[in-house]
Amino acid sequence: MKHSFLVLLTFIFSLSAFAGNNNDLFGVKTIVIDAGHGGHDGGCQGSQSQEKHVALSIALKLGKYIEDNFKDVKVIYTRTTDVYLKLWERAAIANKANADLFICVHANANDNKKALGTETYVMGLHKSEANLNVAKRENSSILLEEDYKTQYSDFDPNSPESYIVLTLRQNAFLDQSLSFASKIQEQFTEKVGRKNRGVKQAGFLVLHQTNMPSVLIETGFLTNLEEEKFLISNIGQDYMASAVFRAFRDYKLEIEEKTRVENVVEDVKEEEEIKEVIKEEVVDKKEKNKKKENEVGIVFKVQIATSSIKKELTPANFNGVENVALYEAGGLYRYTVGNERNITDANRLQLQLKEKGFTDAFIVAFKDGERISLSEAISQ
Ligand SMILES: [Zn+2]
Repeated sequence: MKHSFLVLLTFIFSLSAFAGNNNDLFGVKTIVIDAGHGGHDGGCQGSQSQEKHVALSIALKLGKYIEDNFKDVKVIYTRTTDVYLKLWERAAIANKANADLFICVHANANDNKKALGTETYVMGLHKSEANLNVAKRENSSILLEEDYKTQYSDFDPNSPESYIVLTLRQNAFLDQSLSFASKIQEQFTEKVGRKNRGVKQAGFLVLHQTNMPSVLIETGFLTNLEEEKFLISNIGQDYMASAVFRAFRDYKLEIEEKTRVENVVEDVKEEEEIKEVIKEEVVDKKEKNKKKENEVGIVFKVQIATSSIKKELTPANFNGVENVALYEAGGLYRYTVGNERNITDANRLQLQLKEKGFTDAFIVAFKDGERISLSEAISQ
């Protein structure tokens, strides 16, 4: 009897958690698709193609797939025609829209005409010269911007040192970006039969200022005759766009599912304990008022667990971690650590907590005690 009561209770909690997903804090609701290059920036060249056209065709097809299949997702394009945009303008569009995901579509080139395959980049320090070279080529678009020295604080696309400072801001989204990137590569390889060159990291200027998970897709080599033929064909572009669409679908599901049942602690509680929780609520409210002072303004915390039934905030319940705090959202109890004033400190704390076994720990943001999106917090 007790058991069925709990099942019912969990069911109700799950339902309300699901309803909470309509809140854009807890889902993938706005995405920005960025077709690389455009206008007088043609990108790389094939024997009969220009990167800017290939990128735009695939980007538009991808957007259409998402619009047709997800009525709850708003798709924003940085460009829908052959126009020139500066790299910083592309990131600014995504930040302004408070997007949940930023997808840049490009095509590759190499002096070695035999090079072929797809690679998906996330922001990070390059591990090989080849990755750096791709970033350098894509970043060289800024040389077409008359004021690039002021816009990118003297960034020199050809100097390796310039790349080290780029990666910081995107660190907070690295896990999500990597997850999406690997889904894209998997789809390209398994469903479209492209050669998998892997998920890679390098310093792309277009990614370094975005406040959300971001990837840059190199859909293939225009300098490879076979691959160029595929990438400029209508069917080839359809295949590539649908592959990214499926990766997006799986990523969205993963993020929203994760938010709903993140680390759900499957504690079997007795009814007595649930009554106990109700008593605690009263004490909790008093505590809350006390805490208010250090919650004024923007605060970053690291979320380590979620449960449908309230857990006591003792270190024993959280692998020995002290000062765990609690907030409620979407019908679930969410446990956090820290009260950091900037994202760098929150990143550091997240790493420490991962080392303590909370491998899925992620950063959440609050403004005056109310949960807000991470991108909103970072942009303030
Ligand atoms: Zn490009």
